[in-house]
Amino acid sequence: MNLIVAVVLVVAFTLLYTLFIRVKDIPPPEPVSPTAHLEERKAAIYENLRDLQFEYRVGKLSDADYQQTKLSLQKELATVMSEIDQVAPRPAAASAASASSAAKRRAPAPKPAPVAASACPHCGAEFPAALKFCGECGKSMVVDNSGRETA
Ligand SMILES: [Zn+2]
Repeated sequence: MNLIVAVVLVVAFTLLYTLFIRVKDIPPPEPVSPTAHLEERKAAIYENLRDLQFEYRVGKLSDADYQQTKLSLQKELATVMSEIDQVAPRPAAASAASASSAAKRRAPAPKPAPVAASACPHCGAEFPAALKFCGECGKSMVVDNSGRETA
């Protein structure tokens, strides 16, 4: 009798474990690589090229059809490869790059504007460039990160 109870309990716990606990233990899906969908497309194009060559060899395709299809697949492949090249070399900045890559492809990113204004911490005079000494009061304009004067 005790054995049956024990078996029932074990089965019940196993079921509960399977149904409820393991769901929580499943790790979240891995972040998708920015090139994952491109790699998939590349693999699909290679597969199409293999199929095409096979069909050509067994005589299912005319020479013209073969050449035309091969050319379009190779063009597609080149496009995918260049897209991978644009994404792949910067894995650390992948999220930022993928967000702005479309815009970057259309036009070169503007160079960051130089920080023009530099104000004297003493008299408040403003200058078009950062200066070591204020042109108005002659005091040092070199400040450290806390905003204090260093020299
Ligand atoms: Zn000044």
